[in-house]
Amino acid sequence: METACLHWQENEGPGGAIQTAAALLRDGGLVAFPTETVYGLGANALDAAACRRIFAAKGRPADNPLIVHIADMAQAETVCAAWPPEARLLAAKFWPGPLTLVLPRRRAVPPEVTGGLDTVGVRMPAHPLALALIRAAALPLAAPSANLSGKPSPTAAAHVWQDLRGRVPLILDGGPCPIGLESTVLDLTADGPVILRPGAVTAEDLAAALGRTVRTAGESAAGAGPKAPGMKYRHYAPEGRVVPLDPADPGRQIAERLRGVRPGERVALLASDETLAGLDAALRARIPVIYSLGSARLPAQGAARLFAGLRLADEQRAGLILVQAAEEIGLGAAFMNRLRKAALE
Ligand code: AMP
Ligand code: MG
Repeated sequence: METACLHWQENEGPGGAIQTAAALLRDGGLVAFPTETVYGLGANALDAAACRRIFAAKGRPADNPLIVHIADMAQAETVCAAWPPEARLLAAKFWPGPLTLVLPRRRAVPPEVTGGLDTVGVRMPAHPLALALIRAAALPLAAPSANLSGKPSPTAAAHVWQDLRGRVPLILDGGPCPIGLESTVLDLTADGPVILRPGAVTAEDLAAALGRTVRTAGESAAGAGPKAPGMKYRHYAPEGRVVPLDPADPGRQIAERLRGVRPGERVALLASDETLAGLDAALRARIPVIYSLGSARLPAQGAARLFAGLRLADEQRAGLILVQAAEEIGLGAAFMNRLRKAALE
């Protein structure tokens, strides 16, 4: 299959590239498009055959549900069967934005989308191209990240091209994704709201909006078994071995890790500007791939750059990838969730 990659700029409006993409989607085809979180691989969420094409293109396990992207509340009502007051409040406060709400599904949503569950994950993306595309297609779009299953999520059109060239007909290039980590997934069908996947809408943000504490799945022993099937898979992972470095003293740990490096093994280091600036010159000389996660004082920079850094380490054939960890508060919780999954053996 030939893959076209079309550029789009906000001031172009909903012309050319978007009309081509919308026509493809209405025909049951796939289109990769940018969102504020990561690039998504979209299909008509109400067309089971179109959604099966997503799983085939990504090599994604069939029980891992897809998030449905909508452009307005009327569309959201066509996929979710119930809107509890907390869902309305959160949608009003955080949409468009990086928050996916898990709600009871309508029967129009095929089981391919929901991984066979009675619930559906839905979100309104805050990216002008994503919104224009959904509106032009006049369809809710099921769209997981536009990468090969298991690989780091794509935060630029070039990443989608690397993974899906020859597997999808069209990639819309709207530049790099500003957030760079997937949306927060919040389950509103359990007893109390539960974060299934941390993201840029943080536990602190949700607790403040709801006026109650918000649990993160996996934190309590009572939350047995993964509620989101996708939670059980190794994810976001490059080829090389990923090792998180404690943020308190990365310099000492880098020295220790370098002592264990196998002969001929290439090392990559992803770390803050502050850590890189303080790195001993002799150590630095032994690390062929050095990549900045931005300032340690600005966690959003590290979040936006993590996946691109993991991909770069792979391109540079690094066997060992050292990544400076973040503090587990706010956006740091989402960063660490992805880093730990990338580091799973
Ligand atoms: P991706 O778009 O590739 O980041 O994957 C979507 C993720 O959203 C899945 O792996 C699940 O963790 C989550 N998700 C989507 N729909 C549901 C649902 N109905 N119930 C629970 N989790 C969901
Ligand atoms: Mg994904």
